[in-house]
Amino acid sequence: MDIFEKCRKFTRAREVIEAGFYPYFQRIEGSSNTEVWIDGGRKLMIGSNNYLGLTHHPHVLEAAECALKKYGSGNTGSRFLNGNLDLHEQLEERLAQFLGKEAALVFSTGFQTNLGVISTLVGRNDKVFLDKLDHASIVDAARLAYGEVARFNHADFDQLRLMLEADRASGRNGGRMVVVDGVFSMEGDIVDLPALADVCAEYDAALVVDDAHAIGYLGPTGAGTAEHYDMRERVDLTVGTFSKSFASIGGFVVGPESVIHYLRHHARVLIFSASMPPTAVATALAALDIIEREPERRERLWKITKRMMEAFRSLGFEIGPTETPIIPIMIGSIENTFAFWKAIFDEGLFTNPVTPPAVPENSCRLRTSYIATHTDEQLDYVLDVFGKVGKKMGVI
Ligand code: PMP
Repeated sequence: MDIFEKCRKFTRAREVIEAGFYPYFQRIEGSSNTEVWIDGGRKLMIGSNNYLGLTHHPHVLEAAECALKKYGSGNTGSRFLNGNLDLHEQLEERLAQFLGKEAALVFSTGFQTNLGVISTLVGRNDKVFLDKLDHASIVDAARLAYGEVARFNHADFDQLRLMLEADRASGRNGGRMVVVDGVFSMEGDIVDLPALADVCAEYDAALVVDDAHAIGYLGPTGAGTAEHYDMRERVDLTVGTFSKSFASIGGFVVGPESVIHYLRHHARVLIFSASMPPTAVATALAALDIIEREPERRERLWKITKRMMEAFRSLGFEIGPTETPIIPIMIGSIENTFAFWKAIFDEGLFTNPVTPPAVPENSCRLRTSYIATHTDEQLDYVLDVFGKVGKKMGVI
């Protein structure tokens, strides 16, 4: 059997392209803070993770320019060998302090951070327990780990408890780790961390929270889910990314110094992959300055979030259990979701259609997400378009 046979047989995407409804790989030719240019036209961006609107902030741009001049365009090596900058270490110190943990470690992406942390720590005799809606990088990281993997239904801690109980009864001689998203990226709901931490404590399981979608805007100072619940000391490790509120690329983990030290010397994706480039590190540092200095951005984002949730619900849209600036608009079938996406895209709105395997069959949606710098006029326009198209397509 020819290994490439499956590629030649893969026709689904081409069919959608030919039908004129293909939403992916949109070619962006330029951008401002809340808009992108596609095919020479402007689209209002309500599909990014740029929650605080920092991608075009003057302080961030200036920091990136300075780093480019001082360190060049790339590090051409891993942190472990020739690619460790003073900037990486500054960023780690600042993050540990910001998130109230002993130490931090920066990786080249959030995806790699999960691969590094989970696959390194979950050894041969260990077992990791995942929420079924955890991010793909967590699932892949667990597959890469030598230990066992179990998955519980979304937010079903009774089921998790049964799994942990059975594991304890099995007499297996190894450690346990539970990994969840702080804010679930396709639903927008926040994990019930107090309840989860109780279960973890009962069964002596380490608690790891991927706060990619929370750090920056959730919690009184933007320090994420654990701060939101005022229980930072009950989370063992927090993983995050710079590709969302931090307006950059890269990832990090914070936790006890001994764990971070171990990861520095054992995480293969850290040791065998080039480090975050200077511009990206400087961008993340500058974004952290603003997160700490400008709480009004968080306040604005929450105001927008409340307004949009209420408005979508009163228009008659189903938006699920979201509690955050991630507001999914439930449509149903893939066909209707692509058709809805196209209709609003033609009206100038950029959203993300989400289809299986990212979500269950017939639970397809348009993922919308908001930026602190969206204006009220822009949001009025979003609601106008959704209302008009929603009625026309019979969704509301
Ligand atoms: N974790 C979660 C929960 C995410 O949503 C994402 C990105 N969508 C990642 C990790 C990966 O982050 P990055 O983009 O930095 O690779």
